[in-house]
Amino acid sequence: MTQQIPEKFEYKQLAALIEGEVIVSGDPGYDDARRVWNAMIDKYPVAVIRIKSTADIGPSLAFARKHGLLVAVRGGGHNVAGHGTVDGGLVIDLSACRDVVIDVHEQTVTVGAGATLHDLDAACSRYGLAVPVGVVSATGIAGLTLGGGFGWLTRAHGLTIDNLLAAELITANGQSVHASHNENPELLWALKGGGGNFGIVTSFTFQAHPLPETVLTGNLIYRQPHWNMALSAYASWTSTLPDEMTTIVTLLTPPPDWQLGTDPVLVIGFAWTNPDHQAGQGYLQALTSAAPPSATDVSPTPWPAWQSAVDDIFPKGVRAYWKNTGLRRLDGAAISTIIRFAAEQTWQGTAFDLHHMGGAFGRAEESATAFPDRGAPFWINIYGFWSDPADDGHHVDFVRRLASAMEPFSTGAQYLNFMATERDVPTLPPLANAAPVYGTEKLSRLRSLKHQWDPENTFRINHNIKPASVDS
Ligand SMILES: Cc1cc2nc3c(=O)[nH]c(=O)nc-3n(C[C@H](O)[C@H](O)[C@H](O)COP(=O)(O)OP(=O)(O)OC[C@H]3O[C@@H](n4cnc5c(N)ncnc54)[C@H](O)[C@@H]3O)c2cc1C
Repeated sequence: MTQQIPEKFEYKQLAALIEGEVIVSGDPGYDDARRVWNAMIDKYPVAVIRIKSTADIGPSLAFARKHGLLVAVRGGGHNVAGHGTVDGGLVIDLSACRDVVIDVHEQTVTVGAGATLHDLDAACSRYGLAVPVGVVSATGIAGLTLGGGFGWLTRAHGLTIDNLLAAELITANGQSVHASHNENPELLWALKGGGGNFGIVTSFTFQAHPLPETVLTGNLIYRQPHWNMALSAYASWTSTLPDEMTTIVTLLTPPPDWQLGTDPVLVIGFAWTNPDHQAGQGYLQALTSAAPPSATDVSPTPWPAWQSAVDDIFPKGVRAYWKNTGLRRLDGAAISTIIRFAAEQTWQGTAFDLHHMGGAFGRAEESATAFPDRGAPFWINIYGFWSDPADDGHHVDFVRRLASAMEPFSTGAQYLNFMATERDVPTLPPLANAAPVYGTEKLSRLRSLKHQWDPENTFRINHNIKPASVDS
């Protein structure tokens, strides 16, 4: 592909063909338009196309093809690896396409690919419905869904992809394609974890689920030296939990408005989706009597409020580096390792999330989606974010050391959406031991589908799956 930088008049020609905005270097707003959530990924595309309707996608792709430009596709811009932007290429930004249409009778919801989790949660909650998504409301539905989608409903209703019924796409050659159980089912399979490799998704249709008006949610907070007791009790408690209880353990230095001081705390967050709050309190009681917390914050909460409860901890423009893996077990040795690293935390922000899996997530057929590992009872996401570039080395090193120390407990699986990209950490050499994300069988199926739908690898600014025809 030979790249030819477009002339100014050619951008104008493109702008005349589409409803959306063409933003190029020097335009007011270019700097904002080029940036993504992770400030480590500081790239300069030749143009950002803010499409207004899906009809804008075809001409934008044709423009990229004509000039040999790489294409980055952006939904919410929250991709940790920063795949929503590209140096010298074209960004197709779908963030204006955020309609949400709900079929109350069928309890399904169709959402534009630029919608955020907030758009979906707010619309669904008006009808007492919810789709399992992630935990920070500014995250894009598109990237989250195409990787998998972990959140507070994972045990009750599975990953986001387990609820994906259909998608509309525009392929590399501008063709509109519908993927569902009846039409192009293999393509739908690939979208369930295969990332943005197969085309530009314009809308997703999900199965939604009834949710009570308020959901019993909250945090049990533990200070040092109670972390070992808390995690040990937590590990055995989780084996008693029904699907309605999803929990995530987080180590963080509390933000000032939590009024918990400045020492790091271990937080067991939970969402109990059964309307019987007393039954949920009963389960909590079993944990708190085995491991009394230093503080608690538990209350029935409207769903959208819980879904945005930690938004302020994750502002756009921080620097971030993440690594993750499925865990085979959470035994004494795994807990000691986690706590040994937890004791190092002196910085503002978070260090890791430990997700309790199982439930509907674990019962989904391994072969039903491209997602790598349904057997893992826990998943650890190790993540740092910070502001000063001078701290890059320290935080990246912490994440890598903890990830490496957790290897003995790892299933080997990695979740696409919690992966940074090694080549964007310029000061440090890449890790040699990155585990394969899909396993050989799923990867081979994905590569055949990539060959079918994007043989020229137009969509390569992602965790890329090479077409089967290309040597790996
Ligand atoms: C603060 C924060 C909190 C998070 N919390 C969670 C969580 O709770 N659970 C969870 O599972 N994940 C979570 N994530 C990870 C998140 O799911 C991924 O980073 C995801 O890629 C973000 O999607 P996006 O649309 O915002 O990103 P973008 O950067 O816009 O897109 C990511 C990638 O998805 C692809 N893509 C985007 N739109 C399209 C499209 N329309 N068609 C085809 N491909 C497309 C492209 O490859 C693109 O590069 C979180 C991330 C952050 C930063």
